[in-house]
Amino acid sequence: MSVVTRFAPSPTGYLHVGGLRTALFSWLAAQHNKGAFLLRIEDTDMARNSEAAKDAILKAFEWVGMSHDGEVVYQSKRFDLYKKYIDQLLAEGKAYKCYMSKEELTALREEQMAKKERTRYDGRYRDFTGAPPEGVEPVIRIKAPQEGTISFVDGVKGEMNIAATEVDDFVIARADGAPTYNFVVAIDDALMGLTDVIRGDDHLYNTPKQIVVYNALGFDIPNFYHVAMINNEQGKKLSKRDGATDVMDYKTMGYLPEALLNFLVRLGWSHGDQEIFSLEEMIVLFDPNDINKSSSNYNLDKLLWLNAHYIKEAPNEKLIALLKDFGVDLTGNAKASAILTATKERGKTLVELAEQIKLLTTAPTEYDAKSAKKAFKGEAKEILSTFADMLALVQPTTKEAYHAVMEKIVEEKEIGFGKIGMPLRVSLMGSMTGAGMDEVMAVLGVDETIARIEKAIARIE
Ligand code: GLU
Repeated sequence: MSVVTRFAPSPTGYLHVGGLRTALFSWLAAQHNKGAFLLRIEDTDMARNSEAAKDAILKAFEWVGMSHDGEVVYQSKRFDLYKKYIDQLLAEGKAYKCYMSKEELTALREEQMAKKERTRYDGRYRDFTGAPPEGVEPVIRIKAPQEGTISFVDGVKGEMNIAATEVDDFVIARADGAPTYNFVVAIDDALMGLTDVIRGDDHLYNTPKQIVVYNALGFDIPNFYHVAMINNEQGKKLSKRDGATDVMDYKTMGYLPEALLNFLVRLGWSHGDQEIFSLEEMIVLFDPNDINKSSSNYNLDKLLWLNAHYIKEAPNEKLIALLKDFGVDLTGNAKASAILTATKERGKTLVELAEQIKLLTTAPTEYDAKSAKKAFKGEAKEILSTFADMLALVQPTTKEAYHAVMEKIVEEKEIGFGKIGMPLRVSLMGSMTGAGMDEVMAVLGVDETIARIEKAIARIE
């Protein structure tokens, strides 16, 4: 049987990283087996937002390079179908109408709590044959098994055995006829032909209920994989502040999709101690049975490290295209490749890379006060002036040639490297940051280098 997986978000307006990881695992499991990856929008409560949510999800999928198969399924459009199954279960005596009022339900709950019992429906209408009470619209409850265990093998957690007494005759349709969450999820997963359900372990306790539905309707039960949550670096629930934000924010923050996916795949899955995975490699290697049992921690340094790696590896044309969104357009710039070579290793994000490039392509209009104070003191002015003269004379064109001029001034003036390096750096870049000076000068060219040095000299008292 071909593998079918799905991603089934409740529409919240955007896709966040936790959701993207679940989607990625499901997508990879399908790709690995040349199966299908389906998308279902669970919008029974929020029908209004489903289109926007779908668009946000598809936009994020497109950015990271994941696609889904077939039409998007909307639960909000399947009420007739759910109704059919409710009627079927009623007709077969596998579900029943419960006329318990809110007050009765509250009283039952309080009584159970007073006895320190687990609160559960007591089945009082399960075999009811009398005349229904007046004025109460019934809910529909499914007949859950009353003894034995509900068992399934979870691909992550292992063997799960839940005592039947833990699952009461839960509501499958409310008094207004609306079907409930666990009922529709089970029906959809079955009808959509799911073979493997991969989802967050916050859903683990829904699974026995869904199995009750599968069994009542005679559906095949899929394999389940409940993935442990992503925690923050302190081991607590990941919040918005930690990075549980819209996937598209990562684009704005200058992350490459390949870095984000690589980061996410390692949150809960591993292959030996390998850290870097291309998408192709993930597809070949991913097996949901290898998903880790324990929860994983979001680690920003790791994400930055991966992003730096993918920026360094990216072909220049790709970076040139991406950088346009970050205020840098190197299209047609003859020095583009030299600029990128000088800066590529200094940007952990595209935002940082763009900043580094701007430092190179625009002369500093002011100098960072602290850097200037440190760099432009003592003989700095005189050293810079001699250095500019040397450059004018030698007219270096390569990184090596610029380096040689630096070595020469150090030798001739019997000074430490910092005595030229520091004032030169602040003259050219405005502060102590930036790429290697020889590389920077090679990119700027001798005229621009001298112009920036002279501008600095004029500023030094
Ligand atoms: N709609 C659920 C959610 O967004 C997921 C349901 C499932 O994966 O079974 O949390």
